[in-house]
Amino acid sequence: MPTFVYMTRCDGCGQCVDICPSDIMHIDTTVRRAYNIEPNMCWECYSCVKACPHNAIDVRGYADFAPLGHSVRVRRDEEKGIVAWRIMFRNGKKDMTLIAPITTKPWGQHIPKLKEVDAPSKEMRDSQLLYNEPKYLRFDEGGLHTLEAAGLKMKQGVFY
Ligand code: SF4
Ligand code: SF4
Repeated sequence: MPTFVYMTRCDGCGQCVDICPSDIMHIDTTVRRAYNIEPNMCWECYSCVKACPHNAIDVRGYADFAPLGHSVRVRRDEEKGIVAWRIMFRNGKKDMTLIAPITTKPWGQHIPKLKEVDAPSKEMRDSQLLYNEPKYLRFDEGGLHTLEAAGLKMKQGVFY
């Protein structure tokens, strides 16, 4: 469910712009409010939803999540440490609140194999790179790896 911004709530602080990993939250230069420039490229990570101090960012619910004519409101409650999703159906009578904790999990406790690698240093956490970049982009081995460079050929179909 890609995000959108209620411009009447947004004060243009830019926190969503800073945190969006897809770099699609921009500030409109005329009205000085944030907007999602490319919903199709939204990772649906909801980092912006959690970061917005004014609950100005909401999501467009998919039909399998909430039927047509609904609205989905997101609310971040820092005191309780939760993110709540409130779905109001089109008949206006039913509504449902889904509550999820805001979590920052201790290193290595919830993904067991992470115990085997060092936790990122403060320098790594402050860096602009995502976790394990450039290793996962394989730039640390001398540039971008292509099929040709690896001696492989494109095969048609899906292989597992
Ligand atoms: S949900 Fe994630 S990818 Fe989508 S706009 Fe917000 S921060 Fe960016
Ligand atoms: S974080 Fe919220 S208030 Fe700040 S620019 Fe983004 S949408 Fe607007």
